[in-house]
Order: sequence, then C-alpha cells, then structure tokens
Amino acid sequence: MYNQKKTKIVATVGPATSEKSVLENIIREGVNVIRINFSHGSHEDHEKIIAKVREINKEKQIHTAILADLQGPKIRIGEIKGGTVEVNEGSEILFSNEEMVGDEKAVYMSYESFAQDVKMGERILIDDGKLALEIIHTDKKGKVKARFLNGGKLSSNKGVNLPNTKISLPCLTEKDLKDLKFALKLGVEWVGLSFVRNARDLIELKHLIRAEGKSARVIAKIEKPEAIDDIDEIIEETDAIMVARGDLGVEVPMEKVPLLQKEIVRKCLRAAKPVIIATQMMESMITNISPTRAEVNDVANAVLDGADAVMLSAETSVGKYPVQVIQAMSKIILQIEETEGIYHHEFPPEMDVEERFISDSICYNACRLSLRTDAKAIVTMTHSGYTAFKISSFRPKAGIFAFTGNHDLLNKLSLVWGVQGFYYDKFVSTDHTIADIKYLLKKNNFLKEKDLIINIASMPINEKGQSNMLKLSYVE
Ligand code: PEP
Repeated sequence: MYNQKKTKIVATVGPATSEKSVLENIIREGVNVIRINFSHGSHEDHEKIIAKVREINKEKQIHTAILADLQGPKIRIGEIKGGTVEVNEGSEILFSNEEMVGDEKAVYMSYESFAQDVKMGERILIDDGKLALEIIHTDKKGKVKARFLNGGKLSSNKGVNLPNTKISLPCLTEKDLKDLKFALKLGVEWVGLSFVRNARDLIELKHLIRAEGKSARVIAKIEKPEAIDDIDEIIEETDAIMVARGDLGVEVPMEKVPLLQKEIVRKCLRAAKPVIIATQMMESMITNISPTRAEVNDVANAVLDGADAVMLSAETSVGKYPVQVIQAMSKIILQIEETEGIYHHEFPPEMDVEERFISDSICYNACRLSLRTDAKAIVTMTHSGYTAFKISSFRPKAGIFAFTGNHDLLNKLSLVWGVQGFYYDKFVSTDHTIADIKYLLKKNNFLKEKDLIINIASMPINEKGQSNMLKLSYVE
C-alpha cells in the first residue's frame, strides 16, 4: 500500500524526475502533489510530465495532484557579457529598461516602469539577496542609478527583489496568462500564483479560471511584505497558501521568517485552508545522499507547526537523489506523526457567525468524538470537498476518508492533510451507503472488524446539502 503519512509532500519535477520510472518511485515513496514550476522548462516538457503522472494515477488507482506554479511578476536583470562580472562595494551601476548585453556599469532590468516606481534610498536585491544596492538616482523615465552595498558576482538573468518598492506590474504577466491557459487545458488541479500582493490578485486569478470553465483551485504564494500585511484577506480569498520562504526571506529580514511561518500556519488551520511550507527543506540533498541534522529539524518543525504539506524544489527537480530525498522526508514525517501533540486542534465553530454552522459543528464534533472513542476513521461523503477540508483542519488522529462522485475533486484532496479520496457514485440511501463504504474500507485493509467508524452525511442524501448527521458504529 502507498505511504500512509498524513502530512503531504509536494515535489517539483524537472530533468531529475522526468522519467516515468522515477516519477513512479517518488510517488510510491510519499509524493502526493507534483509541482510544475513554470519559471523553467517548455510547455512540451510539462505536457509530457503531466501525461506520465496521469498514467501512473490510472495504473495504480491513486490521485496524485498537479500544481501549476505560475512565475508571476518576477523581475530579472538581463544578460551579462561573458555570463558573470565582478562588482565592488561602493561602485555604481545603471539599470535600464532598454534591452542590452550588460556589464559592471550598466544592465537591462525586465521591469518597464522601474524608473517611475522607485524612490531614492530604496533597496535592490539581486540573486536571492547576495548583492544589495541602494538607489541613488532615477530619471523617472527608464534609467535608474544604484550603488553596490557589497561586492560579489553579477551574473546573467538573476532574480531581483525590491522589498521597499510599490511595484506596479500586473499580478499575471503575459507569460502567466499563456501558461495558465495551457495548464488549465491539461486539467491541473491547483494553480499557484507567485508574488501575490493582495487578495485582489487571487480574485483575478479565480475569475480567469472560471472564465475558462475550469474548477482548478488557487494557491497564494506568500513571499512579499505586502502579502503579509494583507494576509487575513488573502487567506479568506484563496483556496490554499504556500509559505515561499526563498523569496520571503529576501523580501523581509530572514530572521522574521520562522515566526511568520508559524503565524501563517495557525491562521490557515483556523480557516481550514491547506498550507504548504516551501524551499530549502532538504537543500543539501541536491548533492548529498543524506540531509543535514538542521534540515531534519526544519521538516519536523513544519509538521509540528501543523503544515498540510512540505515542499521540495531543486532537491527533486535537478538533485542527484530525488527518490532518497522523498524517503528521508517521509521517514521524518512518519516519526513526528507519532507525537500526540500534533493532533486535535480545538477551535469550535462560533454560532451565528459562521455561514455553515451546522456542517462545521458536525465536522468539529466528529473529530472530538473520534478522540473520545478512539474511532479509526471519519468518513465524509462530499461533492464540494468542504467537509474534508474542514475535518482535516481539526487534525483528528483517525483517518479521514472522503467519498465523492466528483471526479474533479479527487486529485485536489491529495494536498489536504490526512485526507484520502475515493471515487463513489452510488448514493442510494444513507444506510446503504454507510454499509457499503464500511465494507469497501474493510476489504481494502483500511479498517478491520470491531474498529469504530464515524460517518458524517447530509440527510436526505440525494439533496447533497450541508452535512447534518453523524453516526458512530462498529465495523462488522
Ligand atoms: C520561494 O521563493 O520559496 C518559492 C517557492 O519560489 P520559486 O517559485 O521561485 O521556487
């Protein structure tokens, strides 16, 4: 049987994981969501990967999800003569919006209105903050002069962060719009948006997805200080969150990231929105066969914080040990999941405040009941997935089994902590369905005789309304 851990793993694919056999291995070892990073690779490469994952899902009868991660308004410098030049502390450089092959004196910046948007004294960070500059002049048309605050190497096409600047670029660039169309055509389950600045960015993305007639859900990547300022509204508007620690640790002082991670996870749990912790979790395994002790602690702490998923980037896209990194990550997760402390969060739904008070109360009390009775499973029959997300947010120790006749939902559930999805479309009567589901779970070795099981459902079953019923019974 496939890995039964509750915390999910998101793995970025690339040259190291493009073979079907490697994809099969990483999925077997614990990957639940395959991430396609649209900052790299061609549509042709992405299409091939997606087809292979779909084949594996079919062959193994599993529900691996695809996450299309859009680049967003990422700013880069242009090409540098010879690839790299040395720059010195105190030296000056001109940033221009006219394309050119740059050097230590002048360089192209892929941001048309840079000169209009920046102010004197603001910072420019290049290559994940390895080079820092201070703006000393702008002509407000197309040229900006800045002074290096430290020396180092300036290389072609490196990413730029402007932590103090109000960037006027749209949240979805022309490239993003093309990538989004392509990803939606291939039926991806999740769409990630980079450099989200406010809740309106998510509204726009969701609108575009609906306009294409698709049901993909959105992930807000939190990596800008503006997003931190608007985090409550962003969480309300999005379907899930990614704490994108790479850019976040450049845009805000890096020492603030650990507490921001904890705070964002806490808010997401409260809102029943899945949250992914991303970047550098097992960085040393890009080249080494085992992680550092600090990396083991980082993954363990993300699980202890309550993350739905932990993510790998270069470790699985270009790393030397893509299968071993998943094995190591799964081992850490399974070990931490033996700790009682990560289960059963208590935040009862508030009467008259929450729109879905009845179904929220059913989910909350199903989790409490599972704790009191040591029930082994909480089963929900769901069309929208709402109850599966909600039950998961209370982090019950019992297995969460979501039965749905909604094909579109099944793979999406793979991102959600503890949830296992099953296709089921025989909603005859509540009694018959509950008996049938118990039989299926026992037959497939998820449950055994005398286990207690909790079913939640909506009665009458064929109206598919809010969950309003909870049943506790033994498996026969
Ligand atoms: C990050 O910055 O942590 C991140 C996940 O972004 P990218 O899409 O660049 O990997």
